[in-house]
Amino acid sequence: MPRPNPIEIPRQGHARLDAQSYRIAAMRARSEAALLAACHAPVMGIDFAAICGAARRVEFAALINDDKVCVTSESVVVHDQCARALAAGSESPEDAELLCALYVVHELAHLPQGIGPYAVVRDLRSLGEDALLDLDLGADHVAALVVSRARDMPLSAVKALQLRGLCGFPVTTEHTPEARRRKARRVVSLVVESMLGLARDDSYLCADFSPTSPALSLIYRGAGLTRVWATAPLTSSATERLLSAADALDAGGADPAEVAAIVRAALAPRMAA
Ligand SMILES: [Zn+2]
Repeated sequence: MPRPNPIEIPRQGHARLDAQSYRIAAMRARSEAALLAACHAPVMGIDFAAICGAARRVEFAALINDDKVCVTSESVVVHDQCARALAAGSESPEDAELLCALYVVHELAHLPQGIGPYAVVRDLRSLGEDALLDLDLGADHVAALVVSRARDMPLSAVKALQLRGLCGFPVTTEHTPEARRRKARRVVSLVVESMLGLARDDSYLCADFSPTSPALSLIYRGAGLTRVWATAPLTSSATERLLSAADALDAGGADPAEVAAIVRAALAPRMAA
């Protein structure tokens, strides 16, 4: 039986090349360069060449079923909503291009992780937010490794860019308290890796804190065994600020510099050792 066409809206044949179209074309070219780099050799055990087959083109289009990515015989097709938001909202064309490449590889990494179909994400979310956080941090890490190699940038600088990208999509009133905490943990994890010098090639860092517990933990996951890097006591006011790390700044959210200062203070004995 032929596979249904996964693309919801037909692509534009000859769209007018306005400023946004030029920017999206550059984002697409940068994403294709990242795709080539990803397919060069497995990354964290993910064989992108096997996932992509002959597809080396990147296209942006609306996909059915809330899916974010699909691979056809020619192209990796990525949901266009994020590309448009990056084109419109990024501080610079360079940021928009690299963030788009990071997004494409992140979404591709979700296929071997088993969360390509959005229905699986919904099922996981119904069980809690921890699995989704771990899958996102893993996909972020793989994407950061690919772009760091393709662009010859330090991993911590790519993580800093990912952090800026995340801060562009803050928590809204649509998010549950659990989803707000997941997003805050993702931001804090990236702050620690990019601003505290704790990014490692073979593992990604996962920060944990909770409104019901007076502690912070930083745990490396990825290659080999999961391992604790540090735990530290956390005051309730520090916990509250970390929980606001993914809130909009004009809604009182903690910015990355404040988050870094809180984590540094909590870890002072460990960092001094
Ligand atoms: Zn994701």
